[in-house]
Amino acid sequence: MAIERTFSIIKPDAVRRNLVGQIIAKFEENGLRPIALKKIHMTRAQAEGFYAVHKERPFFGELVEQMIASPVIVQVLEGENAILKNREIMGATNPANAAEGTIRKLFALSVGENSVHGSDAPETAAQEIKYFFKDEELVG
Ligand code: GDP
Ligand code: MG
Repeated sequence: MAIERTFSIIKPDAVRRNLVGQIIAKFEENGLRPIALKKIHMTRAQAEGFYAVHKERPFFGELVEQMIASPVIVQVLEGENAILKNREIMGATNPANAAEGTIRKLFALSVGENSVHGSDAPETAAQEIKYFFKDEELVG
């Protein structure tokens, strides 16, 4: 299987509740390694640009407000099959549908405040990594 890189956000709801370590532990236990990681407080423009694909959705305004409410951890995770594996570790978008043991099942508060973001495909992973990190910040 190929070694891939994917982009992850630990969202404000989880950072506020001091869940950063427990969430990163889930990634590490499942063979994903953080190769770049920083804490940022996203600007409105950054959040709107990041989620531009959802801008026509009814939840867009709420999503942006939630993402800029307080700081997040952005990171790049590396490992075998990292993109799909990260999505599996995260669980379904709506925690009500998330499998046992997944981050969203364990920690999400609601479909909006669902604790983590993860890239959904190789193209979006590459775009999202570039959106927040310079090449030289990736230390594989
Ligand atoms: P993801 O890839 O699993 O994060 O889900 P999507 O790409 O479909 O949606 C992006 C984010 O928008 C989700 O993680 C949620 O935070 C939020 N979101 C998606 N659907 C809904 C919804 O129906 N209501 C609300 N309030 N937020 C939503
Ligand atoms: Mg998505």
